[in-house]
Amino acid sequence: MPYRWPDDTVFTRLDFNVEDGWCLTCGCKLTVCDHRHRRLFPLKGPVHVGCKLAHCPQRVCPAHIQTLSPAAETALAMPWGVLGWDVGCWLGHRRCARHWSVGHLRTE
Ligand SMILES: [Zn+2]
Repeated sequence: MPYRWPDDTVFTRLDFNVEDGWCLTCGCKLTVCDHRHRRLFPLKGPVHVGCKLAHCPQRVCPAHIQTLSPAAETALAMPWGVLGWDVGCWLGHRRCARHWSVGHLRTE
């Protein structure tokens, strides 16, 4: 079940493009084929991430079937996850190294 954000949540907007604009197989310029929108929760506050997905337009290219995502999106959060990597590290450190209880983590 997807996470339900409160209606009054204020999001910071981030837009990402595929970093390398050229096909690594044939050298053709990549074209944007779709968009993906995600709402994430890093430590700095909620963000709305818009990603432009790209693929090689040459049908004869073996890389044509691959859809490329921006690496910056993966650097921000896990695929299919809502929490940012920094939140996961924050939780893991307090839970495993400091032995905080789950109730204490929720309070923080
Ligand atoms: Zn190609």
